[in-house]
Amino acid sequence: MSNSNVINAPKDRIPEYAFIGRSNVGKSSLINMLMERKDLAKISGKPGKTQLINHFKINENWFLVDLPGYGYAQVSKKKRVIFQYFIENYFKEREQLVCTFVLIDSRHDPQKIDLDFMQFLGENQIPFCLVFTKADKLGSSKLNKQITSYKKKLLQYWESLPMTFLTSSSTGLGRKEFLDFIDKVNEDVAKDFE
Ligand code: GDP
Repeated sequence: MSNSNVINAPKDRIPEYAFIGRSNVGKSSLINMLMERKDLAKISGKPGKTQLINHFKINENWFLVDLPGYGYAQVSKKKRVIFQYFIENYFKEREQLVCTFVLIDSRHDPQKIDLDFMQFLGENQIPFCLVFTKADKLGSSKLNKQITSYKKKLLQYWESLPMTFLTSSSTGLGRKEFLDFIDKVNEDVAKDFE
């Protein structure tokens, strides 16, 4: 189901996991890799193309939510609002949301827009994990260095680090860890959804 307003999102009382990141971060590829589908999420030709909240029901027991990429979304004059209002609303209203996956391109140094977004999640007490994408694009020592320095930067703002995943849609790296995590959380929250 696709919506531009969280009010119309599916009413099912099942746990929900949101995927978000800057346009081109590899979100569609990651979703397709996780779900072993070629085109569940559309690989974006144009940045910022997915402008809807897309709910996919998985195995009848959880929702995968594909959110529009930020960065190319409308930015307010004040530059404080970093993504569209309907996305902000989604995060504030959606009670079923148990975890948000914030995607970061493994090759990139910390960007303000991503750090601001994590700040927003923190301020609204929305649990999130960090997902480093496109891990295959770096050699292992460069990759480790990059991830370590990213985490170091985060510790300037956060007391502790979120759970992190290292993924590649090209090689399937991280798929098992990712799906195991979702299974585990689904079990942990099951009683809240009875
Ligand atoms: P989205 O805009 O965040 O949905 O990003 P896409 O999934 O459309 O990916 C953007 C570009 O990065 C595409 O050209 C993908 O083929 C490429 N890409 C995405 N994930 C990976 C990955 O894990 N490894 C490599 N090598 N390329 C990737």
